[in-house]
Amino acid sequence: MPLAYPPFKTCPCGSGRSYGHCCGPAHDGTRPAATPEALMRSRYSAYALGNAPYVLATWHPDTRPPELHLNAGTRYLCLKVHETSGDEVEFTAALQVDRGEKYVLRERSLFTQLDGRWVYVDDITPPTLDAPEG
Ligand SMILES: [Zn+2]
Repeated sequence: MPLAYPPFKTCPCGSGRSYGHCCGPAHDGTRPAATPEALMRSRYSAYALGNAPYVLATWHPDTRPPELHLNAGTRYLCLKVHETSGDEVEFTAALQVDRGEKYVLRERSLFTQLDGRWVYVDDITPPTLDAPEG
């Protein structure tokens, strides 16, 4: 089960809005993400909250992995959206795994609409993971 997250708390996606006015309605299905950026943010929040079902549900069936196991020890530190154009969103996400190394992931993602809802298709540029060697 995904973690319950209080709607009045600041949204994990870093928008500055409360969860109940940001990614919350997308997660509970009351208001699907209206734009690629909103979907990307809600997917980031879902990762941050351990909501694997939402991540899978917003993944295009052609590219979706059969299952997804989120590491409960991964902390999602911050998200920065650099650019959105059409159905593409470029962003950087910072992660920390098991209280250890921090990673910076930069990706340009492609989204499309399926049955009137935005879904994640794939990354257009391979994600770059800046991690210390060794
Ligand atoms: Zn949000």
